[in-house]
Amino acid sequence: MEASTNTQIGCGMRHREVHTVDWNTMEVVLLERKQFGAPLTAFQLNQEKLIRMLGNIQAMSALGWRLCKLHDTGKMTSGQASLGKAWITKQARETAALGKELLGGNGIVTDFHVGKAFCDVESVYSYEGSYDVDTLIAAREITGISSIRPSSRL
Ligand SMILES: Cc1cc2nc3c(=O)[nH]c(=O)nc-3n(C[C@H](O)[C@H](O)[C@H](O)COP(=O)(O)OP(=O)(O)OC[C@H]3O[C@@H](n4cnc5c(N)ncnc54)[C@H](O)[C@@H]3O)c2cc1C
Repeated sequence: MEASTNTQIGCGMRHREVHTVDWNTMEVVLLERKQFGAPLTAFQLNQEKLIRMLGNIQAMSALGWRLCKLHDTGKMTSGQASLGKAWITKQARETAALGKELLGGNGIVTDFHVGKAFCDVESVYSYEGSYDVDTLIAAREITGISSIRPSSRL
C-alpha cells in the first residue's frame, strides 16, 4: 500500500506544479494577445475561466498539502490517498481543458505548455488507479461496501 499511496500523492502534487507553470504561461499570453482591440484577459467569459482555473489550482494545492501532512504523521489511509488522487486529477483535467480553451489554437501547438499539460493530465487521470477505481476505493472506505466487483453476472 505504501508505494501505491506515495505514487498517488506524487501524481496529485505533480499536477499542481504543472498547472502553476501553465498558469504563469497563460498570464503572459493572455495579456499580450489582442482580439477585437482588447487583450484576451479583458473578456468576461475568459475571466470566468481564469478564475475557475485559479480556484482549482488553489484547491488542488490545499488538498495535496493536507494529504502530505496526514502521510507524514502516518495517519493517511488508502481511501484518503485515492480520494485525493481522484479529485485532484479530475480538477486538473478541467483546469488543463480551460487553459486550452483560453489559448485557442495556441492551446494545441507545442510552443506553449498548455497542450502538453492537457495530454499529460489524461495519462495521470488513468494510471496509478484510474479515476473510477480510485473513487470506488475511497467509497469502500467510508461505506464499508466494495462495488469494485459486480455483485452478479449477467
Ligand atoms: C502513460 C501511462 C503510463 C503507465 N505506466 C504504467 C507503469 O509504469 N506500470 C504499470 O504497471 N502500468 C502502467 N500504466 C497502466 C495503468 O496503470 C492502467 O492503464 C490503469 O491502471 C487502467 O487500467 P487499464 O488500462 O487496464 O484499464 P481497464 O482496467 O481496462 O479499465 C477501462 C475503464 O474501465 C474502468 N473500470 C475498470 N474496472 C472498473 C471497476 N471495477 N469499476 C468501475 N470502473 C472500472 C476504468 O476506470 C477505465 O475507465 C500506464 C498507463 C499510462 C496511460
